[in-house]
Amino acid sequence: MDQKEIFENLIDLVLIEPQLVTAPNPILTQKCSPVEWSPKIDEVLDAMIMVMEINGGIGLAAPQIGLPLQLLVAKTSKGILTAINPVLKETSEEIVWIREGCLSYPNYFVSIPRPETITVELEGENPNFSLANELTGMDARLVLHEMDHLQGICLADRILELPKNKQRIAKEKLAKMMRKMK
Ligand SMILES: [Zn+2]
Repeated sequence: MDQKEIFENLIDLVLIEPQLVTAPNPILTQKCSPVEWSPKIDEVLDAMIMVMEINGGIGLAAPQIGLPLQLLVAKTSKGILTAINPVLKETSEEIVWIREGCLSYPNYFVSIPRPETITVELEGENPNFSLANELTGMDARLVLHEMDHLQGICLADRILELPKNKQRIAKEKLAKMMRKMK
């Protein structure tokens, strides 16, 4: 089997019963592969939206349903964005700190700095969006968070970039959350 067939089989398997993947799971630390659009990819995006909605989330990346593919969905102020192979083109110099959560880290929130405004290039059809989108505020944060997932980067990794004092508190909270999940 070549990689394309492996992914196709994996997609078929996941689509039987799409489930949220939570930490710690090695798939959340994997770099995701680019995707070639096919009708099946639309099914995956629909499944991702379903899992996001069921779990009360506002964004989801494909690894969070067990697929190491460059796909994300996000509930933005302009409607639901579905992105295939999103590429970050520009980030503003202005940085904002906002508390962030992740469906894969239930009940865990941490304040993380991110650019206020970004420009993202998208593939595929998105009725509410053009191919190059400027996103700002929560929309930008949401898409940056999901794009992190596509690189295998989770909230727990972002903690390591925080100043030492904030890092310690964030790590303790995270350890507590992970113990609860066992
Ligand atoms: Zn997340």
